[in-house]
Amino acid sequence: MAPTRAYLDWNASAPLRPAARDAMLHAMENAANPSSVHAEGRAARALIESARKTVAGFVGMPGAGVVFTSGATEAASYLLTPDWRDGRTPLRYSRLYVCDADHPCTRNGGRFLAERVTLLPIDYRGLLDLDALAQALAAHDASEGLPLVACHAANNETGVVQDWAKIGRIVRTANGRFVLDAVQAAGRLPLDLSSVQVDHLILSAHKLGGPKGVGAVVSQSPNVMPVPLVSGGGQEKGFRAGTENVPAIAGFAAALVEAAGEIGRTAEIAALRDRFEAVLLERAPDAVIHGREAVRLPNTTFFTIPTLRAETAQIGFDLAGLALSAGSACSSGKVGPSHVLRAMGVADGGGALRVSIGIATGQRELDAFAKALDRVVANRARAAA
Ligand code: PLP
Repeated sequence: MAPTRAYLDWNASAPLRPAARDAMLHAMENAANPSSVHAEGRAARALIESARKTVAGFVGMPGAGVVFTSGATEAASYLLTPDWRDGRTPLRYSRLYVCDADHPCTRNGGRFLAERVTLLPIDYRGLLDLDALAQALAAHDASEGLPLVACHAANNETGVVQDWAKIGRIVRTANGRFVLDAVQAAGRLPLDLSSVQVDHLILSAHKLGGPKGVGAVVSQSPNVMPVPLVSGGGQEKGFRAGTENVPAIAGFAAALVEAAGEIGRTAEIAALRDRFEAVLLERAPDAVIHGREAVRLPNTTFFTIPTLRAETAQIGFDLAGLALSAGSACSSGKVGPSHVLRAMGVADGGGALRVSIGIATGQRELDAFAKALDRVVANRARAAA
């Protein structure tokens, strides 16, 4: 990244940590297949097994099962299926209940048929409606199978943090299974799940400074698992076939170790985020910051400036040297209306912009944002005149 640019898009992907790069380079030195029994193969295997322990420890679930995947999207497609096994015994989940503000990888229902997916509403703050969840589960027809529930821990657009402990309790009472997409929360909030009723957790390395294209499913009781999405060889105990991406897994673990060490700096990042928001409201007092009524991630600001087209503003910011997102530009640069704001009942008019920061963000980026915003707001005034 050019040093003169200001990177404010950490929720889309965080910069690769040098420790993760070093771990990947080290792993790449070894040509062996981790399933090979010779010394080189065993060395590659040792990297994977050590990373597995790191992942489980990171979320406070040292006894948990960890399956490495190609990222959170694959993890979601793997978990969200009607067909499960408890050991060798088939188990059926007849309906998926998923939060309407979830990332498309879970909101789209994975391997469930569309008619077997119920979208759960959120309120104006961006929080899952817990009464609606309890009611939906109470009405679940258990004669067809069990209920599966998926929800994000923190929203990628607004940063709103869900009460996953309460969700877990409601799901457990209904004899359901709970999948928590912790992709945005991991590394940004303490994530000790030892006493929380979460059955499966989804992680993605590139949101916390690891490489892209690797993630994990962490499971409380590794005996109860979905029918594999990728079958073939017996890798990952048969849960996910294919030779493991050893360098990416090693980089993922190195990033987790660093991220865990930085959790104490959450307040520092939140204070910087508050300064970005102060600058925003100073320059554009009519700006609306979404999700502010709820607890949010310390690094995220999702906002609308009335009469400003987010897509145009994003280009303006880009030309001024700032990388930030318009809407949820997660796929192929496509910017659509935000389904999260729609679910909150908020009209986003010309679209919303997202600033998401991280540990390396500082005064230089804040100054660049203020300067670019001045220009964007002045252009808006000129266009309105
Ligand atoms: N879940 C959330 C909350 C996300 O923000 C993202 C990516 O933006 C994903 C899942 C998908 O992650 P991946 O890029 O690893 O497939």
